[in-house]
Amino acid sequence: MEDTKSEMVEIGENLQSMYTGGKVTDGYVEMVEEFNQYSTYNVFAVRNPRELSACVPFEIDYNTLIGPDERRVLLNGENVTKIGYEERFNREVVSVILPLVDQNRLEGIIYLYYPLAKITELAKTEVAIFIGGGILFALVIAVFVYQSLKRIMRPLNDLQKAVEQMTEGDYSTRVKVTSKDEIGMLSEAFNHMAESIQQEDEKQKTFLATVSHELRTPISYIKGYSEAIQNQLLDGKEREEALELIHREAIRMERLTNELLQLVRKQQEEIEMLPIVLSETIRESVKLLEGQANKKNIRIVQNLDENCIVQGDEEKLKQIFINVIENAIRYSNENAKITVHSYQSDHRAIIEIQDEGIGIPEEDLPHITERFYRVNKARSRIDGGAGLGLSIVKQLVKQHDGALAIKSVVGEGTLVTISLPLMEED
Ligand code: ADP
Repeated sequence: MEDTKSEMVEIGENLQSMYTGGKVTDGYVEMVEEFNQYSTYNVFAVRNPRELSACVPFEIDYNTLIGPDERRVLLNGENVTKIGYEERFNREVVSVILPLVDQNRLEGIIYLYYPLAKITELAKTEVAIFIGGGILFALVIAVFVYQSLKRIMRPLNDLQKAVEQMTEGDYSTRVKVTSKDEIGMLSEAFNHMAESIQQEDEKQKTFLATVSHELRTPISYIKGYSEAIQNQLLDGKEREEALELIHREAIRMERLTNELLQLVRKQQEEIEMLPIVLSETIRESVKLLEGQANKKNIRIVQNLDENCIVQGDEEKLKQIFINVIENAIRYSNENAKITVHSYQSDHRAIIEIQDEGIGIPEEDLPHITERFYRVNKARSRIDGGAGLGLSIVKQLVKQHDGALAIKSVVGEGTLVTISLPLMEED
């Protein structure tokens, strides 16, 4: 349409330039008519709008050809372009009208027109190309979008499957990290999480297995000896010994279950922090262990700073000292000495528990605060615990923002140092 219009304007302007002013001559009109015979566009010149009827083979209504508004535009020397139904030609046309103006008088016009139907026909092939191209473009885009979606969806699908597997208890599942974008990061985070859960799960399983194992030994002792007693297989001294053994194993189980309870509790409980006079707590702990110490004729020497006040939970602090001092008694020979020394240093209360016992081999030292870790399993079957004491101490000390250090020389003794933050006076 635009092409047709501008071509018509160009032709019209050429014809316009041949007009030299004055009255539009017959010669000029004829020249345009001749041009019309060779031109693609219909073109004619009219001397005066009122005379238009003389030049075209149609009934001319001047008012439908040019309205007063268009006349004004033409008088200004400007072109008029129209698209639409022209009554005079009885069809849809695009038309261009150029003025032939001389001294502010509209001497005539050049009228060019072209049927719209022909343009539409031309456009049809172009539209077909357009539509074809559009469909092709849409297809290419669709394939592209589908591919990208698939790329995005695949890791998400993998993630969903992995989550389902985890829900079913398979913690070994991992997803492939294929990109560095948000989804890649999500996959990586998922793998980290899966790893932590798997580790925690394995820890729990080991813990349960160890607990079962620890309980099985005393239970089988108790079962065996009680059956023997029931079946009257033992008598006199043997019977007494069996009963004593049953009693000892029952105490061992009681202790183990108590320790287990402590382990579980201290993880869940919020501890209540109150000002505690440390020397009092230590003295009370020692008093509870005096019986055990006396049995082995062990002397416990206390050298305590009476001014150490810490923020803490009294029962838990007591538990710390009992566990450590009990170890010192248990792993010392008869007639030995244990020293409990407390003092202040650099805003901290330091408590040192020194024994002259059997000591701990260097290679075991880094592990003795682990759950169920025992230096000599065979030995501790007789007088030791399940290897939970120091792991409880470690966690309780941590709850009090304190620190635990253990030094030992085999055959000479062990030094356990606990430091706790002093309560600030203000
Ligand atoms: P248990 O309840 O078996 O004593 P702990 O966690 O208290 O467990 O101690 C772990 C291991 O560390 C013990 O089995 C023991 O071998 C060793 N141990 C702890 N304290 C001492 C000590 N004062 N002297 C020598 N060995 C010790």
